[in-house]
Amino acid sequence: MEFRESIKAWLEENCPPSMRTPMPNSEQVWASSKISFPSKEAEEWFKAMTANGFCTPDWPQEYGGAGLNDEEIKILKEELLNINARPAQINFGITMLGPIILEYANKEQKELFLPKISRGEIWWCQGFSEPGSGSDLASLSTSATKDGDHYVINGAKIWTSEANKADYMYCLVRTSKESKQGGISFILIDMNSQGIEVKPIKLLSGQSPFCQVFFSDVRVPVANLIGEENQGWEIAKRLLALERMMMSDLGSEGAVDVDPMKLFKERNLTKETSLYYRIVRHSMRQNAIDLTMSRAAMEARLGSFNPSMVLKYLSTEEVQQRWELNLYALGSIGIKDLESAQGDEFDIIKSFFYSKAYTIAGGSSEIQLNIISKNILGLPNE
Ligand SMILES: Cc1cc2nc3c(=O)[nH]c(=O)nc-3n(C[C@H](O)[C@H](O)[C@H](O)COP(=O)(O)OP(=O)(O)OC[C@H]3O[C@@H](n4cnc5c(N)ncnc54)[C@H](O)[C@@H]3O)c2cc1C
Repeated sequence: MEFRESIKAWLEENCPPSMRTPMPNSEQVWASSKISFPSKEAEEWFKAMTANGFCTPDWPQEYGGAGLNDEEIKILKEELLNINARPAQINFGITMLGPIILEYANKEQKELFLPKISRGEIWWCQGFSEPGSGSDLASLSTSATKDGDHYVINGAKIWTSEANKADYMYCLVRTSKESKQGGISFILIDMNSQGIEVKPIKLLSGQSPFCQVFFSDVRVPVANLIGEENQGWEIAKRLLALERMMMSDLGSEGAVDVDPMKLFKERNLTKETSLYYRIVRHSMRQNAIDLTMSRAAMEARLGSFNPSMVLKYLSTEEVQQRWELNLYALGSIGIKDLESAQGDEFDIIKSFFYSKAYTIAGGSSEIQLNIISKNILGLPNE
């Protein structure tokens, strides 16, 4: 009780009113060495949260965390949610890489990277996929050859989100050809290293969040290897589970939330009964997914179940459904091209296009179903 009261008082004092409103994508604060803020309040909120380690509440204080226990973390999250607090920063270093460093890295690596990650000083990108190695990720061929106290990296990555803005890449490289999965290592690469070329790829939504990254004799210190050489596949699977959990939560993410029922009512579509029933079915499924998410999070904390593959599949398919319903609710406006749409319509059409990516990124739905059938249902491999 005392802890809850102290958090409430702290939030009252430190979370500016404008940081308690839904956050448009344009006002997201991305962790980066060149971090920028859309407003003075966003900066104040970021500084207050990071100074207390509240962006990484479970991490030890020596690594920039708040060192809270499970119960305290739950209370902090509840109180942040109660006041609709915006995330102080968007940082894949926190959601995906940090837990990997905590589990697999040595002391020097933890001391070097974790505080910087917690304080939002590094923009990370993920160098996993390659041309020809997406679903079959373990077939990747970007090579890392040891030369003294460096690895020399050659090859190419593709679909690397935000590589053109990133400070560092966490990357899968081939250190042995002896074994497909057992010849992969996990390494951190400074994106300013000589020999790296980044080319953005333009998407249907009009944005270019994707890049292709080319490596020509890029020298990376052996000290940047996380875990043992050839342990990368185990680490990658752990990281992908974290990514899939993060993606499962898209449905409850305020920033992307447009409620098709609200749109249905606003646009006076009451005669469209079949659309109405589709929206109701979607709302029921989304509620069921949200409840399952809370239960699964509890079970995962007890260590009894890793729900990431099931929830990623269910949740991203449902989010995609929501954007399709939003588009239907726009009627003929929904088939306008992006150039002529305005305001909310523009956002909905753009989000509809982008939602197609959710069932591909982090492992496609088909691949999730394959994993579920094999690992959970115990069905034969072929
Ligand atoms: C928005 C977005 C962001 C991304 N960001 C990153 C990133 O930052 N870093 C990164 O490394 N990658 C990233 N990716 C890449 C993503 O991980 C791959 O696109 C994904 O793993 C699929 O690989 P692929 O595109 O090569 O498709 P392929 O593997 O070529 O698959 C093509 C189609 O075939 C199906 N398929 C393939 N194999 C099977 C099978 N065995 N059984 C049934 N169906 C199968 C797939 O489901 C898919 O529909 C991103 C992708 C998206 C869409």
